[in-house]
Amino acid sequence: MDSRLEGIRDTVLARNPGEKEFHQAVIEVFESLGPVHDRHPEFLEGAVLERLCEPERQIIFRVPWTDDAGRVHVNRGFRVEFNSALGPYKGGLRFHPSVYLGIVKFLGFEQIFKNALTGMPIGGGKGGSDFDPRGRSDAEIMRFCQSFMTELYRHIGEYTDVPAGDIGVGGREIGYLFGQYKRITNRYESGVLTGKGISWGGSLVRPEATGYGTVIFAQEMLKTRGQSFDGQRVVVSGSGNVAIHAIAKAQSLGATVVACSDSAGYVVDEAGIDVELLRHIKEVERGRLTEYAARRGGATHVTGGSVWDVNGTVALPCATQNELDGDAAAKLVSNGLIAAAEGANMPSTREAVSVFQEAGILFGPGKAANAGGVATSALEMQQNASRDSWTFEHTEQRLTEIMVGIHDRCAATADEYGAPGNYVVGANIGGFVKVADAMLAQGLI
Ligand code: GLU
Repeated sequence: MDSRLEGIRDTVLARNPGEKEFHQAVIEVFESLGPVHDRHPEFLEGAVLERLCEPERQIIFRVPWTDDAGRVHVNRGFRVEFNSALGPYKGGLRFHPSVYLGIVKFLGFEQIFKNALTGMPIGGGKGGSDFDPRGRSDAEIMRFCQSFMTELYRHIGEYTDVPAGDIGVGGREIGYLFGQYKRITNRYESGVLTGKGISWGGSLVRPEATGYGTVIFAQEMLKTRGQSFDGQRVVVSGSGNVAIHAIAKAQSLGATVVACSDSAGYVVDEAGIDVELLRHIKEVERGRLTEYAARRGGATHVTGGSVWDVNGTVALPCATQNELDGDAAAKLVSNGLIAAAEGANMPSTREAVSVFQEAGILFGPGKAANAGGVATSALEMQQNASRDSWTFEHTEQRLTEIMVGIHDRCAATADEYGAPGNYVVGANIGGFVKVADAMLAQGLI
């Protein structure tokens, strides 16, 4: 890391003790930013990095709710409004028992750069709760969402902060959250949340966008080496919204996706994952992958080990942070990997990223590769603002243009800063310069 940035890093780490995922995200960005400060001394003079690492506002609140037996539970809710230089805070809500301030801050920090890379007018934010939706009834989920929004509503708005989904928050939860926001405020303010249902202000392609976008980004990387998805053997982690649509898109481009996973294990299906069966089990039945193996001839379910033990030429980590470590990366490389693109946020550890880069693997970091989700959220906001709704084809075309644009900008920035082919450097510098310029232009805020 550039020595001028070390002191700033040390201050950030000391000021945010115990938030190890936030530290990881900050260090990873700082490691790319040395050369930017040679060209832009004004960023150091304006203390841009010190300001960028301190969220504009952090909200932590109590979320009380009752289960179906009438028992009272208390969870903790978060919204970190990280940076509004480019637009209203924008980013998802995560409901998962692992959520604490350090997770929300790593996600919010990454979101700033990701959103900048999309070229859309959106700032960075993130929120969520340590609530565990697993095994909860629809009625319990609704009461939780209503309680969560009863505090959150006063902090958000279409020009202020626009939440969406993330792990544990999908169409059902956005519906309950939107209903409660409308009830409290007496405003049908479509642009306050994205990921809404199609009949009440949502955008076509939003559910598919993160997974599709990740594959489009990976396809662009492959093209730089004269390759494509056609004929690739793909390993995907996760089996939620991002994974399902990444699998569908990769297979539509001629790849065979041979494995995917959930928290209990993974399935191997040499014939290629049956996306409709997977979608039915995961989204309709809210079931487990053991069900997939039970119903799909030729597929096997494996517990223990890791989905990264399965050999493939392309890896798409679409589950969660730090799910792919240095050992897993080394195994993938020795098994013939040529490319990896992150559908999840920060799924590869820093060691894994180094292994990929040293082996010359094409590596697309999440803040670039998975930006299609939030970009399509911004398209949803555009449609809401103009009271319009676009066709699937038009929206998918916009998504494709945006992803190709992000790829090309990352590649060009990496070239410009002397690191050709390094998409980590390209994404970090490309996103940072845009935000830093806007922050300086807007004065000391
Ligand atoms: N949670 C998604 C992400 O990590 C989407 C956020 C959004 O659509 O606002 O980018």
